[in-house]
Amino acid sequence: MTKNIAVIKGDGIGPEIVGEAMKVLDKVGEKFGHTFNYTQVLMGGIAIDETGVPLPQETVDKCLASDSVLLGAVGGPKWDKGEGGMRPEAGLLGIRGALKLFANIRPAKLLKPLASACPLKSDITDNGLDLVIVRELIGGAYFGEKKTCVNSIGNKTASDLMIYSDYEIERICRVAFDMARKRRKKVTSVDKANVLDSSRLWREISHKVAAEYPDVEFSDMLVDNTAMQLVRNPAQFDVIVTENLFGDILSDEASMITGSLGMIPSASLGEGSLGLYEPIHGSAPDIAGQNKANPIATVLSAAMMLRYSFDMQAEADAIEAAVDSVLEGGVRTGDIMSEGMTLVSCSEMGDRIADEI
Ligand code: NAD
Repeated sequence: MTKNIAVIKGDGIGPEIVGEAMKVLDKVGEKFGHTFNYTQVLMGGIAIDETGVPLPQETVDKCLASDSVLLGAVGGPKWDKGEGGMRPEAGLLGIRGALKLFANIRPAKLLKPLASACPLKSDITDNGLDLVIVRELIGGAYFGEKKTCVNSIGNKTASDLMIYSDYEIERICRVAFDMARKRRKKVTSVDKANVLDSSRLWREISHKVAAEYPDVEFSDMLVDNTAMQLVRNPAQFDVIVTENLFGDILSDEASMITGSLGMIPSASLGEGSLGLYEPIHGSAPDIAGQNKANPIATVLSAAMMLRYSFDMQAEADAIEAAVDSVLEGGVRTGDIMSEGMTLVSCSEMGDRIADEI
């Protein structure tokens, strides 16, 4: 099979970690008889420097013309003062909207060799930790109307409209229920229905969708309680579905309890097979250009691309097994290093994973 992948290396450690994911993809191609063609496009700080905007139209066009998109990370102190649309992060929101990627999938799984990196007590994680957060990605307060004004008595006021329509809730809930059917068949829908109208609509629609999936266990949970339950008893969760802002916060919390930011991949999906695959961490400017970054989250994002966009299950399994095997062998980058393990660079980690394929 031949697949065309748009590659956004981005800023900071982006080019280093994406390079390792491409190395692993090429090894998969060699072993399974596929060709992956890469088209590099600009987004983020580097796009501001080279084109004057964080998301050039050419990038959107080339991503839309590809089978899928692999992204490193964007941002850094150099561009932090950029006002409004001139920030690298505007590129992120823009590409999600332009590709109509409404579902963000973030698995959080505690890998056995990294159990000691988990900040929770072992009696909490003894029951395991293997959940997926399905976050609505192009609605809610991040995309609703934004206003900053001075009111009639001189106070500066700002607002972000948290807005959802029934069809937006319905389609993200379906993603969650379909995913649960392939896992442990349990969905927890997270909202703030005791306070927010948008959450009350969320609850109404999620119950309607749940009725179509009688084989999936379903419950609601308030977002504040969910934040607490994630550290008290994470094993109770299989698939969590929630709106954009709550999902942003809860998915960072869930990934942190698995040990390292450098380990967690993500997929952003729309109606078709085109997806955007990226690690959940940022551009780590503090270690950029030093060949120190952990490329595993990006490598595992490439595995998600094979699974969700290209329907290459065996190939995705091969990457995940290679990562497990390298970690079982005691190989570590600095962020997940512990006593008695072998410290390797970003590129050596990529080599080891590719060798295991
Ligand atoms: P960050 O995730 O970049 O870094 C937080 C800490 O984790 C740093 O100490 C960093 O060295 C470490 N870290 C992150 N990824 C790592 C990896 N793969 N291997 C080893 N260590 C790793 O978060 P931040 O410092 O808050 O943000 C830095 C920049 O990234 C900011 O400009 C921010 O806006 C941007 N950002 C981008 C994205 C994205 O592109 N999706 C996401 C979050 C933050």
